[in-house]
Amino acid sequence: MSASRPAHHKLRYVSGLAGPPQVKIGAMADCLFCGIASGEIPATRVRESSRTIAFRDINPQAPVHVLVIPREHYPDLAALAAAGDGLLEEVAEQAAQIAKDEGVADTGYRVVFNTGPHAGQTVPHAHAHVLGGRPMSWPPG
Ligand code: AMP
Ligand code: ZN
Repeated sequence: MSASRPAHHKLRYVSGLAGPPQVKIGAMADCLFCGIASGEIPATRVRESSRTIAFRDINPQAPVHVLVIPREHYPDLAALAAAGDGLLEEVAEQAAQIAKDEGVADTGYRVVFNTGPHAGQTVPHAHAHVLGGRPMSWPPG
């Protein structure tokens, strides 16, 4: 983490000794999506809001495949929901707006938060997948 970052990137919120592990960290070292949020790692950004960034998935699974992330580090959907203050709603609003911008709002789209190993979450920084542009099957694989 560089010394030039704003102070809020260095905030640490940790639990008491008997509590669960950390629930919020401004920026996490070695986190791929924190790197994208800071601009250290390049990504094709399609949309930004004050607390979120959206960029194209590097390995798209549908004609439209965009990821929406909070700028700050939350490990998964549960932690993002626990953040409160409308942050999860902001992520959902951005997902809906991306679907409109990408022209799939009327044909339909899927918003997915893979959470944990069985769901195949590979990046432990909460992210919404916005997938559309083709019919999708259910149940998912
Ligand atoms: P998940 O498997 O649900 O954790 O989703 C992680 C997603 O991040 C996958 O769909 C990857 O293709 C995508 N991904 C990994 N690295 C990058 C990157 N550098 N830029 C954009 N998307 C990425
Ligand atoms: Zn992160």
